[in-house]
Amino acid sequence: MMKQTMPIEGKFELMSLPYAPEALEPVISANTFGFHHGKHLLTYVNNLNAALPGSGLEGKALEEVVLKAQGGMLNNAGQILNHNLYFSQFRAPMADNVPTGRLADEIKRQFGLFGAFKDEFVKAGATLFGSGWVWLSADKDGKLVITQEPNAANPIQRGLRPLLTMDVWEHAYYLDYQNRRPDHLAALWQIIDWDVVDARYQE
Ligand code: MN
Repeated sequence: MMKQTMPIEGKFELMSLPYAPEALEPVISANTFGFHHGKHLLTYVNNLNAALPGSGLEGKALEEVVLKAQGGMLNNAGQILNHNLYFSQFRAPMADNVPTGRLADEIKRQFGLFGAFKDEFVKAGATLFGSGWVWLSADKDGKLVITQEPNAANPIQRGLRPLLTMDVWEHAYYLDYQNRRPDHLAALWQIIDWDVVDARYQE
């Protein structure tokens, strides 16, 4: 069961982070981080909070809003859930950064080498047309699955438990990488906090 994100006095808050805005450099610059977290994500939070009164979903967990809302409200709630999972899975860059724990064992069992898993994940992100997200999720039996989700979609809408994600909206990388989305995806592996991802797998 995923942890639920509850509103406080009827409102969702911009997530706070356990690292400084420049902590992810040079993989994600402080400039990109500032726009992405402080502007794009904040806009989704403000839009959802403005849409909640009278919607019938006031006071519900963010995950429940994603499963029940439609239209613009679903888009904003989905983007908040997606970005909360995205920004909370990072830490300062580390060379030879590899998965830990039970998740590492399952990746080996299903994909063979970690490099084979990475290649498949990056290919899914690089070939997603337009805006969206690439995800590693677990199904109800703990089996791992890589999916492409368009726009604001989240794997919980397919009954999957999201573990790891890369944002392939241009706002996630354009200031630092311009059109080179695959280079951005290849660099992100240096900043994945595998302890966080493994904890999500074991929840
Ligand atoms: Mn984004």
